[in-house]
Amino acid sequence: MNKVVALHSSDAGAVKRLAETLGLPALQTGWVWLAGAGPGDPGLASLHTLHGIVDADVILSDALANRDLLKLARSDAKILDVGKRGGKRSSPQTAISRQLIAYARKGLRVLRLKGGDPLVFGRGGEEALALVKAGIPFRIVPGVTAGIGGIAYAGIPATHRDTNQAVTFLTGSSAQGKAPDLDWEAIARGSPTIVMYMARRHAGEIAAKLMAAGRNPREPAAIVSQASLPGQTTTVTELAALGTAASAADTPAIIVIGENVRLAAGLDWLGALSGRLLDADPLGQQSLRETA
Ligand code: SAH
Repeated sequence: MNKVVALHSSDAGAVKRLAETLGLPALQTGWVWLAGAGPGDPGLASLHTLHGIVDADVILSDALANRDLLKLARSDAKILDVGKRGGKRSSPQTAISRQLIAYARKGLRVLRLKGGDPLVFGRGGEEALALVKAGIPFRIVPGVTAGIGGIAYAGIPATHRDTNQAVTFLTGSSAQGKAPDLDWEAIARGSPTIVMYMARRHAGEIAAKLMAAGRNPREPAAIVSQASLPGQTTTVTELAALGTAASAADTPAIIVIGENVRLAAGLDWLGALSGRLLDADPLGQQSLRETA
């Protein structure tokens, strides 16, 4: 058989045309792109990310990156699963960096696809520094992070003028798998909204620390599981019950503590698609507004 193979499907061709029309850079040989895939819904991946997938010779993908995106990869692209999911076997971080460097040195186009944003609790910075050290050119393609875009799929805004003018993002697991050693008093005092990644297991312990530091046990909290995926579920609870609710929740799960959780009663646009009635005044402020 003659080896004339169409390397791009027509879908991939469409992505390339769009990228060219917009004058976007292409993934070059010998380069690595560290690209965010978004929290789950493939529609949240950026055009840069899609463009990288389409052109890549090698794709090293995280477990949390939506596999459907790989439909756009070339049929001859090498696809490697280097994902890790809480507790399961995974490729050590240094091994991943070594592979990125080795493939780039072979003159391949290398795409490192990561769930959410590569630089938000994703160790993208570590991988990028390994590339810098090895003298490999790279591009960082930010993605929609679970702690902003994921919670928006549950109708919870990361910030809202009437509830929180600041937000803290934190990881609920330290490198040793324990609750992180943070200044909980400062966080409790200074951060009206707290968004927690990888916090399911230690949610109860963290809630106890926040309450000990003065946070109201009745404060609203939400656990959004599989945000932006077909299996998305949201549990709204109170700080005092967060630990119990979190242990019953599906993974991956993002946790939000703060008054902004109440906005979901008004902003759950996804729930509205399946019949939820939205409350135009979820904070009960109508009378305040009218007199303002
Ligand atoms: N870089 C990723 C975060 C990786 S850490 C990002 O920017 O989103 C992995 C944690 O992210 C999970 O434990 C969970 O807390 C959160 N997460 C990622 N995808 C999620 C999803 N679809 N739904 C809920 N939480 C998610």
